[in-house]
Amino acid sequence: MSIAHHPSEALLAAYGAGRLDAGEHIAIATHLLACAQCRAFVRAVEQAGGSVLAELTPVPLSADALASVEARLQQAPERFSPAKAPPHQKMAGLPRFVQTYPFDEWRSVAPALQARTIRLPHASLARVFLLKAGPGTRLLEHTHSGVEMTCVLEGGFSHKDGHFGPGDFDFGDSSVDHRPLIDDGVDCVCLVAMRGRLDINGILGRLIQPFVRL
Ligand SMILES: [Zn+2]
Repeated sequence: MSIAHHPSEALLAAYGAGRLDAGEHIAIATHLLACAQCRAFVRAVEQAGGSVLAELTPVPLSADALASVEARLQQAPERFSPAKAPPHQKMAGLPRFVQTYPFDEWRSVAPALQARTIRLPHASLARVFLLKAGPGTRLLEHTHSGVEMTCVLEGGFSHKDGHFGPGDFDFGDSSVDHRPLIDDGVDCVCLVAMRGRLDINGILGRLIQPFVRL
């Protein structure tokens, strides 16, 4: 998997320090599953944090440090308890703990565009959902009222910052004006963590209005 677009180092550091919102934690964890480069960065952040805690006393790194980071990617942090329901959602590229959460059914939000909410079992400022767009769909110019993190699971899209394929991470906020075009030939499925207006009309309106099929 060739990954060209990564979260910022500030976001990865916040993830490593356990300071991210629950929904945004999921978006970063989804990218980390696909991206060895960012996993290495998070591991370095965690080691640096451990060194500070040890008050500069050198602590040998345990032989299984890397394996332990990779295992924890699949688990919900303690403060984000996993759902009690058995796993019922298999979606390649999602961390296992996310697959234990209840998923709503796909719903159509615009022509060639469907969304599927993931119900988090804990408070989150960001809503998390899967977004599926048909081949050749284009979003018209729009800005974000809040922070939006997108991780591509299947298919791909392009906008002014380049092409985004499986594993790629895209960050949008009110300063970003995106106009993505979905690749031809195959649906694009993304995991999205979005902060913004919490009223459903606002979210739906924002989703429906920017999308048209050209
Ligand atoms: Zn990365």
